[in-house]
Amino acid sequence: MAAAGVRLDLDGRPIKPKTICMIGAGGFIGSHLCEKILLETPHKILALDVYNDKIKHLLEPETLTWADRIQFHRLNIKHDSRLEGLIKMADLTINLAAICTPADYNTRPLDTIYSNFIDALPVVKYCSENNKRLIHFSTCEVYGKTIGSFLPKDSPLRQDPSYYVLKEDASPCIFGPIDKQRWSYACAKQLIERLIYAEGAENGLEFTIVRPFNWIGPRMDFIPGIDGPSEGVPRVLACFSNCLLRRQPLKLVDGGQSQRTFIYIKDAIEAVLLMIENPERANGQIFNVGNPNNEVTVRQLAEMMTEVYSKVSGESSLENPTVDVSSKEFYGEGYDDSDKRIPDMTIINRQLGWNPKTSLWDLLESTLTYQHRTYSEAIKQAISKPVAS
Ligand code: NAD
Ligand code: UDP
Repeated sequence: MAAAGVRLDLDGRPIKPKTICMIGAGGFIGSHLCEKILLETPHKILALDVYNDKIKHLLEPETLTWADRIQFHRLNIKHDSRLEGLIKMADLTINLAAICTPADYNTRPLDTIYSNFIDALPVVKYCSENNKRLIHFSTCEVYGKTIGSFLPKDSPLRQDPSYYVLKEDASPCIFGPIDKQRWSYACAKQLIERLIYAEGAENGLEFTIVRPFNWIGPRMDFIPGIDGPSEGVPRVLACFSNCLLRRQPLKLVDGGQSQRTFIYIKDAIEAVLLMIENPERANGQIFNVGNPNNEVTVRQLAEMMTEVYSKVSGESSLENPTVDVSSKEFYGEGYDDSDKRIPDMTIINRQLGWNPKTSLWDLLESTLTYQHRTYSEAIKQAISKPVAS
């Protein structure tokens, strides 16, 4: 039996403390991953990002018990000669850096493609050349649209899971035409996945690819006009939170008919930690990480968030809590959408024995409690300020 306090991997072997180079550590997922690693493991983190607001509580004050296990390096991986040295200092690199908000895919397609493909190239190269393991964050969006979405609306086959459940080793990647620039992100992510896979096949790179399916929770994105640009459009959790906080109707793009499965960030982070600590089981794998039990249409999400927010804030909901908007009006030209995203869980379950736990209601309750506590005062102040003439 291992001594008390020694962490064991899934095969019962003691886990050696590692140094992790985490690129994009200051973002939503990075902040939760840093927290988990510092609180529950002995591993060290070299945290790389342009920003550190979301991990400030982990960096300051310097008297924190884990202070010697996290080092923040403010750098942009587009142009910083320190990158290779930092990757060399670590046992493992985790790359989270990306432009990953849909409002950018059709309005800033060049930045999106550069960020998700070109900027990730040196990371893959340095890992491969220096024999360092890489965990790369891709996206469920590489699946694009489901096969079922091309069937006639009344086809009974639409109910058959083989036409919509998304499997890492079997499902095709189906994107719209080039002028639908929404797909610039998915396409760039797909190409970097293929490159990493080829580095594994031809040069022996040890890699794991993660495909997150709508991970949500505290610290996701920003609230426009409070801790982000007033005109900015974050992902759906923050868009809907912003409207609830401001007592405005939630905007349903093209009727809110698209379907998504949402997973609580804390469940998803458990899966990433298993990947970090079980390289033999995770190397060479592509993992869907999502919660197939939490499927809703965007309209149902809006209704549930309205109900949960009313409960946690004590405020009544609006008489008309939602309003329909066209995607052209909301996102501009070139927007398109994934119709449905249900992850197949066979591979992650077989390799890591992992399953998500938290229901949609419970994860919205804790997340909206956080949103209300963090932002409601700031919103009240912003609303009460006289508009400059
Ligand atoms: P995020 O935007 O909160 O985090 C990304 C971080 O990367 C940011 O802090 C940003 O400053 C940093 N970054 C971007 N470009 C950089 C650069 N050139 N140099 C240094 N730092 C840079 O996003 P997130 O939700 O935490 O997502 C992390 C990863 O997971 C991304 O690759 C994203 O595509 C993927 N992903 C996330 C989800 C989800 O549900 N949250 C879904 C699909 C894919
Ligand atoms: N959406 C919406 N209203 C909003 C923001 C998003 O109806 O205010 C829709 C969007 O069109 C998509 C879904 O919500 O169908 C999820 O959008 P998100 O930005 O979270 O990212 P995605 O899951 O598409 O990557």
